[in-house]
Amino acid sequence: MISVRSLLSEHFPSDVEIMQLSELTTWRTGGPAVSVTVTSSGMLADLLGLTFGEGIPWFILGQGSNVLASDTGCEEVIIRLSGNLAKTFWRPLENSWILKSGGGVHLPSLSGAACSRGASGLEFAIGIPGTVGGAVFMNAGAYGSAVSDRLKRVSVLDFRGSEDIIDRDECCFGYRFSRFQDEKSVITGVEMLLEFDDPDVLRSEGKRILDLRRKKFPLQYPNAGSVFRKPEKSVSPGKLIEDAGLKGRRAGGAMVSEKHANFIINTGDATSADIAELIEIVREVVFSFSGILLKEEIRYLGRRN
Ligand SMILES: Cc1cc2nc3c(=O)[nH]c(=O)nc-3n(C[C@H](O)[C@H](O)[C@H](O)COP(=O)(O)OP(=O)(O)OC[C@H]3O[C@@H](n4cnc5c(N)ncnc54)[C@H](O)[C@@H]3O)c2cc1C
Repeated sequence: MISVRSLLSEHFPSDVEIMQLSELTTWRTGGPAVSVTVTSSGMLADLLGLTFGEGIPWFILGQGSNVLASDTGCEEVIIRLSGNLAKTFWRPLENSWILKSGGGVHLPSLSGAACSRGASGLEFAIGIPGTVGGAVFMNAGAYGSAVSDRLKRVSVLDFRGSEDIIDRDECCFGYRFSRFQDEKSVITGVEMLLEFDDPDVLRSEGKRILDLRRKKFPLQYPNAGSVFRKPEKSVSPGKLIEDAGLKGRRAGGAMVSEKHANFIINTGDATSADIAELIEIVREVVFSFSGILLKEEIRYLGRRN
């Protein structure tokens, strides 16, 4: 870790630091990692060129709201987007807004800004605590909408640092899926088309959604949203977990939420190992109870504990 840090510091003196992944993930677990904050596409291209040339593994982290990071940290260099890669530009057309957003933009803030501007289509995202890049990677969604719905194109840098612009139709979006999950690239920005609407109507829809989520989800505890994917369109993992009697089940400081069974919460002193153990327990018990094998929606970072 030290030698990678020194090498990166030579090239990016003020942007490299050792961080605890527990500070960078919403589960608030995980050990140390070298982190580089990049503020422009040019800087990112230089970094990716360097990591490619030196054979240094990396992991692009947004808000860490869908990631279980190893307690022992990771050998991957953590890349975080900031500065010019976390900016938005709005341009009005006749009946709609063209929105250009950097991959590092905070999604709930963007959703709130869109509502206030009278740009409709991102209200559903107001409570999804990720970045635009992470949301496109996951094709995050809620209440029947997904990030891909309003997308026109996505800008990426590949693992060598070469730029590409990909039209929506080529992104292979599906349920919590995009082609970027099968590629080693960084989503640096997106272009979206959002229709004009009444800001008051949009703001009140955003508020309705936030109220709904506060009632439904255990937001007072560190968590990573839904842990498991829907096995089929109409089957809810939360219901399967609840029916298997797992609400309140614990492993160390990790617990299956009493409020929403597809959430695993950190009750205060959970480790990633506790969470990983509980994920396996849930999978096994649900399988023996229902014959359905649940798969994770969350992503792993570093060695599996
Ligand atoms: C309280 C709570 C509620 C949630 N509700 C929802 C919900 O309603 N719907 C939903 O879909 N999800 C939900 N989530 C999960 C999560 O917020 C989303 O998946 C979100 O899109 C992840 O974004 P992120 O920036 O945090 O990504 P991270 O968690 O940091 O990363 C997730 C994956 O995306 C990759 N990634 C991140 N940024 C980039 C980038 N710029 N380029 C390429 N790859 C990138 C990472 O490498 C990683 O593999 C919730 C999570 C929490 C904690």
